[in-house]
Amino acid sequence: MVIDRVEFVRGLEFKNLCEVVELIKRLENKIRCVGCYKKLSEVPYMLSYYRHKDGWLVIDAEERLWLYVICCNCKYQNALWKLLRQVEPIEIFRILEKIRSQSNK
Ligand SMILES: [Zn+2]
Repeated sequence: MVIDRVEFVRGLEFKNLCEVVELIKRLENKIRCVGCYKKLSEVPYMLSYYRHKDGWLVIDAEERLWLYVICCNCKYQNALWKLLRQVEPIEIFRILEKIRSQSNK
C-alpha cells in the first residue's frame, strides 16, 4: 500500500509542541526550506503556530494548531506538511515512536 505523504502528515497528531520541535530537530538534515532550499540544519529557524480548525491536533494544547516553521535565512513560513512530506512516512512514524518511548520514561 502506498501512503500519500501529504495525507499522512496532515493526519498526524502530537502530544505537545515539544514533540514537534524534537521531530523537526531529528529531521533537519533531511528537510529543506521551501523558500531558499537550504537544509534546516544549515539555517536558524523557529517553530510557530496559530489556532486553526484545519491544523494539527496538539493534545496538550486542547485544540488544533496550524504549525509552521519560519526560516530565518529567507523568512519563508514553511507549513509543517511542506517540510514533512519531504520524508518517508515510515521514518516519521519511527522517530515519533522513539520520541514517545523516551518521554514516557
Ligand atoms: Zn529559507
